Amino acid sequence: MATKKTFNSATEKHCLTCAAHLPKDDEAVYCPTCEIRPVHLGYTDAQLRTAFSRVEPYGNWKNPIRQSFSPPLSGAERALISAAVGFFTGESAKFIEEEHETTVVGRGYYVVIGA
Ligand SMILES: [Zn+2]
Repeated sequence: MATKKTFNSATEKHCLTCAAHLPKDDEAVYCPTCEIRPVHLGYTDAQLRTAFSRVEPYGNWKNPIRQSFSPPLSGAERALISAAVGFFTGESAKFIEEEHETTVVGRGYYVVIGA
């Protein structure tokens, strides 16, 4: 009977991107390579996750996205959020610009994959 290797989160810690082993007492969640390595459109994993968290649907990240920002997003914020939505859901977000706010709309992972 094969023994199953169980990840012990009390004593082991791994890079969020590549699963490389990290020292348990290290504050880092990425290995030094992934910390600075672009994974999508020039952005790092950490940048993409942080940006996606700003538009992530409540309860389930795979649901449709609709999040408004006031004041409106800057060009740099839009570019990063657009990349993040593309990275996580497989389809770019749409940006609806109004005088005092930007609304980010995405069909969401479930719809994009046809689930
Ligand atoms: Zn890594």
